[in-house]
Amino acid sequence: MTIAKKKDPFIRNEKEARLVEMAAELAARFAERAPLHDREGSFPFENFQDLKDAGYVALTVPREYGGEGISLYELLLIQEQLGRGDGSTALSIGWHMGLILHYRTTRSWPEELFRSFCQEVVEKGTLLNHFSTERMSGSPSRGGTPQTTAKKTDGGWLLSGRKTFSTLSPVLDTFLVSASIAARNEVGVFLMRSSDRITIEETWDTIGMRATGSHDVILDRAFAPDDALISAYPIGQKPKASSDASAWLLHIPACYLGIALAARDFAVSFAKNYHPASLPSPIADLPTVQQQIGLMEAELLTARHLMYAIADRWDTQPEGRLELIPELGLVKYVATNHAIAVVDKAMRIVGGASLSRSLPLERMYRDVRAGLHNPPMDENVIRNLAQRALEQCE
Ligand SMILES: Cc1cc2nc3c(=O)[nH]c(=O)nc-3n(C[C@H](O)[C@H](O)[C@H](O)COP(=O)(O)OP(=O)(O)OC[C@H]3O[C@@H](n4cnc5c(N)ncnc54)[C@H](O)[C@@H]3O)c2cc1C
Repeated sequence: MTIAKKKDPFIRNEKEARLVEMAAELAARFAERAPLHDREGSFPFENFQDLKDAGYVALTVPREYGGEGISLYELLLIQEQLGRGDGSTALSIGWHMGLILHYRTTRSWPEELFRSFCQEVVEKGTLLNHFSTERMSGSPSRGGTPQTTAKKTDGGWLLSGRKTFSTLSPVLDTFLVSASIAARNEVGVFLMRSSDRITIEETWDTIGMRATGSHDVILDRAFAPDDALISAYPIGQKPKASSDASAWLLHIPACYLGIALAARDFAVSFAKNYHPASLPSPIADLPTVQQQIGLMEAELLTARHLMYAIADRWDTQPEGRLELIPELGLVKYVATNHAIAVVDKAMRIVGGASLSRSLPLERMYRDVRAGLHNPPMDENVIRNLAQRALEQCE
């Protein structure tokens, strides 16, 4: 596994260079551990300790609450870098980093709760994720009603249900849960703390992203105090677009582009060094191989220029964020589909050896596929683009 050392054209200044260097050092360590965790489907606790020790987990926390308040653009640079080392860890920590950025921007939590939570992140390295998906409600981005219920009790709520795809579950003490509140005909989002009424069933055994610990989480009349209900929307509707246009979800394309960049690096190095007996020089000199390398570059550059340009617009033009929703979806659509195509080409360049479990490409091939099943889903992105075109034309 190679971590690109050369200057990345998307790094614009010293601060970004420092952040990327820090992420690259972490990614190099994660890359060494990734094969074993992938093989075992085990959770890389030591990666998360490293992220906490490095202060990484507090980078999106607002400055006034002790964090670094990094921009969306900066977040994508470092998440992409982690993705080069280990897709599972990048995606997992991406939910935490992104959610904090989201709540920093929207301030949709009661401010005192947000302040004290940020303090926990800074001082103890507390992590956060949102457990929304359920077996029968499907992707929350499609607006399915949760079967998990919240019932009123003295001083709070009792939540019961089962969440699937609960990334980071082995390492979380604090998480958000979506639940139906029948009495109010609403879906609420609750901030939960782990307790003996909440258990993890180790169901996560997938072809890719095997080290994300995305198990089932079961709540059995788990208590949440009144102030843990942080938002609600009517049952049967999708939650209203948030004021930040949910741009925090760009941690997803950054992760998959990181995996694709690592696959590109591996294949290009292989091509420069593999000199079969049938040829006068390494396969990198073959026009067919250069064609594949060029196509990988075209796909990566298209996706990265789009991602960083949209992130920069989001950072610098806050008044226009809601109009960016179709583009933000497009970034994810282009990045994940291009990342899949890049890993495929990398494997074609390397040839049969790419199938070997002793090389990283087959893991990247499996990991990158998961991007299709993270939000927003391709068909929603395309529908949003179509709707805007229909509105724009007579
Ligand atoms: C690695 C990984 C990590 C994840 N981490 C988390 C996490 O931390 N928290 C979390 O909450 N979720 C997480 N998820 C879950 C993710 O967000 C999706 O909810 C999950 O992948 C299911 O999406 P789906 O589209 O397959 O499901 P479904 O919505 O059930 O869709 C299944 C199929 O049915 C079709 N379909 C279903 N309903 C509709 C509809 N209304 N309109 C059109 N087509 C429909 C879809 O096209 C698709 O082909 C994670 C997923 C992955 C892969």
